[in-house]
Amino acid sequence: MVEQKPPGAWYAVVLRRGFSGGKLFAQGAFGLKAEFPMPELGTQCVCCDVAGAELVNFDPGTSHSRVKALVPVPLCRMCRPHVDRELGTQQLLAGGLCGGFGLAVWAAMKPVWLLSAAGVAIVAGCVGFIFSKRAKRRELAATGHHAGLEIMAHAGQCSVRTTNRRVAVELAQRHADCLHRVR
Ligand SMILES: [Zn+2]
Ligand SMILES: [Zn+2]
Repeated sequence: MVEQKPPGAWYAVVLRRGFSGGKLFAQGAFGLKAEFPMPELGTQCVCCDVAGAELVNFDPGTSHSRVKALVPVPLCRMCRPHVDRELGTQQLLAGGLCGGFGLAVWAAMKPVWLLSAAGVAIVAGCVGFIFSKRAKRRELAATGHHAGLEIMAHAGQCSVRTTNRRVAVELAQRHADCLHRVR
């Protein structure tokens, strides 16, 4: 039911329970804390599949959705540095990309070349960081580690992105009752 993808590719599992546009709106507008279907990730390390890994809390909130609970994720000691436990870095990077690009364009129109160059440098730095992370993930994939994991929760919905097919398949099976889609 989940297709086999090349190593390093992402699988996405979306769980929904009591999802509605209204709730999503209320959460965004009033900053309500949201209930969401809690993904159950078992006890095998999400990165290297070793059995009986300790549970580590993962923050599934995004900058525009605060949620009530942390998601316990099985992650063995060795893999702690492999997996990011929150989305902060990615949001920072996205912000840096937009901000840097904006600065480069704005300053180039002025023209304030020094500032423009700074904007270009910010963009280059962020892009470089993204590529180095990707390269590291590929390196880990070659040794049997699936370091990619993102958990995002909104009102009534939780999506889990992983580079570990086993994790995606198990999630889909375990949560057949509230599975919205898997791919
Ligand atoms: Zn591990
Ligand atoms: Zn690992």
